[in-house]
Amino acid sequence: MKVETILAAKGHSVVTVRAEDPVSKLVSTLAAKGIGAVIVADADGGVAGIMTERDVVRVIASDGREALDRPVGDFMTRKVVTATPHDTLDFLSERMTRGKFRHVPIMDHDRLVGIVSIGDVVKHRIESIEAEASAMRDYIATA
Ligand code: AMP
Repeated sequence: MKVETILAAKGHSVVTVRAEDPVSKLVSTLAAKGIGAVIVADADGGVAGIMTERDVVRVIASDGREALDRPVGDFMTRKVVTATPHDTLDFLSERMTRGKFRHVPIMDHDRLVGIVSIGDVVKHRIESIEAEASAMRDYIATA
């Protein structure tokens, strides 16, 4: 299965903040949207970085609550691993497992067209296993 199949089901919207926004804004955004990662967009709509709930835990543990007033750009991960809509889910899972992260922004050329989380991958895996099992049961019942 391809990444574009997941995007077709879940949509292309991506929640973003700017590098100059305070970490407190990012924390409110994660809570309000019920998500685990926010893309840090640059002025041209490209990806300047990513900051996830794990990063927030790490910076609060190391810098305390003062970190909430500092800009996201001070803490975000700048070297972001991305994928394209044409990549397969196997490829994406492999990247996430190897890199020990759970979110991958999807780029079509230089345009951000979505984000896929490990939760999205697992959901689609379960759905396809269930569809396969159901087809198998139907086949056995009619054989
Ligand atoms: P996560 O498991 O997605 O919460 O991320 C764990 C760590 O990896 C955090 O430091 C993130 O900033 C970083 N991270 C998350 N997604 C990516 C990605 N696609 N490319 C590079 N680093 C990432």
